[in-house]
Amino acid sequence: MDTAEVFFTNMRTRQTRNLVWKMAALLKAAGFEQMDLERKFVAVKMHFGEPGNLAFIRPNYAARVISMVREAGGRPFLTDTNTLYTGGRSNAVDHLASASANGFNRLSAGCEVIIADGLRGMEYREVEVGCKHTDTAKIAAAVADADSLVTLSHFKGHELTGIGGAIKNLGMGCAARGGKLFMHSTSKPVIQQDKCVACGLCKESCPQEAILWNAEKQAMIAYDRCIGCGQCIAMCQYGAVKAVLDESASVAAEKIAEYALAAVKDKPSLHASFIMDVSPFCDCWGYNDKALVADIGIAASRDPVALDQACVDMVNEAPLAPGTILEDSGLTRGDDKFGAVHRETSWQAGLAYAESIGLGSREYSLVKID
Ligand code: SF4
Ligand code: SF4
Repeated sequence: MDTAEVFFTNMRTRQTRNLVWKMAALLKAAGFEQMDLERKFVAVKMHFGEPGNLAFIRPNYAARVISMVREAGGRPFLTDTNTLYTGGRSNAVDHLASASANGFNRLSAGCEVIIADGLRGMEYREVEVGCKHTDTAKIAAAVADADSLVTLSHFKGHELTGIGGAIKNLGMGCAARGGKLFMHSTSKPVIQQDKCVACGLCKESCPQEAILWNAEKQAMIAYDRCIGCGQCIAMCQYGAVKAVLDESASVAAEKIAEYALAAVKDKPSLHASFIMDVSPFCDCWGYNDKALVADIGIAASRDPVALDQACVDMVNEAPLAPGTILEDSGLTRGDDKFGAVHRETSWQAGLAYAESIGLGSREYSLVKID
C-alpha cells in the first residue's frame, strides 16, 4: 500500500485566516477541487450531536463545506443516519428536530438536511463488498445514491473501536439500522417481557410481522421470520427490546471497516476530521466528558485509514490535559490514551484490518497547511 497524504492545519488563527477559512483551504489542499462535483449529488456526512452532547462539529464548518460544493456546481445535502438505540436521533422526525436544535437546519446549512436511511432507518441499498464478515452491506439510501461523499468527523474515543474518526463515521455512520445491529451484535434483538406493557408499537413497525403476542399478551419475536433489522429496538419506549451487544470489539471493528469500504465504493470521497474536544467516549452519549488533550486542529485526506492513523498519532503525541478521566493514569506523552480508556479495544488492529481490505493505508505523510 502506498503512502497516503494527510493534510493538517492547527488551531492558530489570524485576522485573515479564521478556522472556517483554514478548513476550506485544507479541503482544497486535500483534493476537493479535483472531485468533479458539477451537477452531482454530494452527501456531506456528519453527526448532528445527541441532545446533551456538545462535542459535535459546529454547523459553521458544515455550512462552509456546503457553500464550497455549490461553488463547484454540485447539489449538496447534509446527512446522517438514525441510531440503533432509542434517544433523540432514532427516527427521522426526532433526528431532524435534534439536528435543528444543535444548529443544523436548512437556514444555517444552506441546504436540505436529509436523514439518509429514512423515517424509520429502513431505507438502504445493498452494496456488495464480499468481505470476511460482510457480503453485502446495508448502506443508507441517500448515501448510497449520492454521487460523491464528503465526511466531517469529530475525532474522539470510542467504546467499541478505541477511536471514533473517519472510519467510524463511514462504517457505522452510513449504515441503516439493520447494518448497525449486524456490526454490534451476533444475534437478533430480545424482548424482556417483564418490561413489556403491550403497547404494540414494535409489532406495528416490524416489517416482517415477526412480533407476536404470547399467552400473557406480551410481545415475543418469531425468530424464523426476524431479519434483524433492529426496528423494534428503536420503537420500544419502555426499554423492553434490547440489542444483544455481544459482538467482540475486534470483530465489530472489522465489520465497521467493511461497511466503510461499502460506503465509499465507486464514489469519489474526501474526509475531514476535527481533532477538537477530544472526548474519551462516543458522541452518541448525551454528554461529553472533558477532552483528553487541548484542541489540536483539523486533518483531511482522501484516505480514511491514513486520516484516522494521523489523528490518533497526534492525540497520543500531545500532552494529557489536566483533570481528565486519565488524570491518575500515569501516562506520559506518546503513550496510547485511547487504549488506556478503552482497554478491551484495539484501534491498531482495527486500522490494520481496514488496510488489509483495501480501505486505505496506515502509512502517511503529514502535509502542514498554514
Ligand atoms: S429486528 Fe426482527 S423482530 Fe425486530 S422489527 Fe426487525 S424483523 Fe421485526
Ligand atoms: S414496543 Fe416495547 S412495550 Fe410496546 S409491545 Fe413492543 S416490547 Fe412491549
